[in-house]
Amino acid sequence: MGKMDWLQDEINVLKETGRYVPIRVLQTPQGAWVKIDGKRMLNLCSNNYLGLANNPEVKKAMHDAIDYYGVGAGAVRSIAGTMEIHIKLEEKIAHFKHMEDSLVYQGGLLANLGTIPALVGKEDLIFSEELNHASIIDGVRLSSATRIVFSHLSFSDLEEKLKSQRNQGKKALIVTDGVFSMDGDIAPLKEEAELGEKYDSMVYVDDAHGEGVLGDHGRGIVDHFGIVDKVDIEMGTFSKAIGVMGGFVAGKHELIDYLKQKARPFLFSSALNPGEIAAIMKSIEIMERDDSLLQKLWSNSRYIKEKLKSIGFNTGNSKTPITPVIIGGEKETVDFSKTLYDEGIFASPIVYPTVPKGTARIRLMPSAVHSREDLKYAGDKFEEVGKRMKLI
Ligand SMILES: *Cc1c(COP(=O)(O)O)cnc(C)c1O
Repeated sequence: MGKMDWLQDEINVLKETGRYVPIRVLQTPQGAWVKIDGKRMLNLCSNNYLGLANNPEVKKAMHDAIDYYGVGAGAVRSIAGTMEIHIKLEEKIAHFKHMEDSLVYQGGLLANLGTIPALVGKEDLIFSEELNHASIIDGVRLSSATRIVFSHLSFSDLEEKLKSQRNQGKKALIVTDGVFSMDGDIAPLKEEAELGEKYDSMVYVDDAHGEGVLGDHGRGIVDHFGIVDKVDIEMGTFSKAIGVMGGFVAGKHELIDYLKQKARPFLFSSALNPGEIAAIMKSIEIMERDDSLLQKLWSNSRYIKEKLKSIGFNTGNSKTPITPVIIGGEKETVDFSKTLYDEGIFASPIVYPTVPKGTARIRLMPSAVHSREDLKYAGDKFEEVGKRMKLI
């Protein structure tokens, strides 16, 4: 017995229980169609909502920044890694979000891991939504604050918990995803933010799937609800609709000033490279200039949802482009996804423990780069394979 043999045992358990996820390798850029294993596949898995990951203007902005600034920032932000374009991007985000200031991180996950523990500690409380993203959960753990979980979408449960437990901590933070990535439903952020005011608790929203999708020109969930003065910390990512890489937090000047002194990914990990920064700026500029990609995203989303519903699939409670096709059983869902894959449809199965048992699903991510014909093709394949497998 070698001391590393446990690894293979663990892997075998994952495989036996159907939880081992094969990693698909793309041989082409992100787009409506991609090549995998040499085969052309309709891509319904990516978070590239607006198609900006392979947009010519965005690519050119990155090339130009590399020509001028080189490929690396060279240090952590607090030592020598802050270039003038980092500051320009932070001003641009603040302006786009109608917030006072912003701070850029190397990723959305890092924004949560860095910010939450900077805001609350041992003597404090975190009221955390039941279905929050893993990066929030880890940020909460790192903070060592007491975690109190409230039920999914339930501001009345949040209020009960604030009422009974808020007095047990010094500071308190209410933290929630804006859009929930497995169901596409939206947090009742307005009510939650009002509770934050009523019970002296900071309000933090992770808008990874609302960025570029909700609000005027894709400004996100805070703009969607018109509550810019009620949300204390708006966190987001540049890796989804914005098409690049990185994350950010926006809020008041003092928040950003403080995080620059305290947030560990800012202090101990090197800055995003200048090419990424320039590409992000260009993506935001495109979104500000013109909302036609956003309109196309939504009309495509409505089309595919209606089509799937009309042929008898359950598409859940989604209020956003995220389109769950709820099948139920783990095994039937994985088989359905495999059969669709053989038919040229790339759509990932999502099973327990990512979603509750009995609600296994295929999650479709329509985008602005899909044509109507692409989505019609997908709908027809879902119908054909679904009937063959007796799922509808
Ligand atoms: C994707 C995602 C993140 C992580 O963002 P990255 O930029 O990919 O690190 C954080 N929170 C939520 C809700 C997400 O969906």
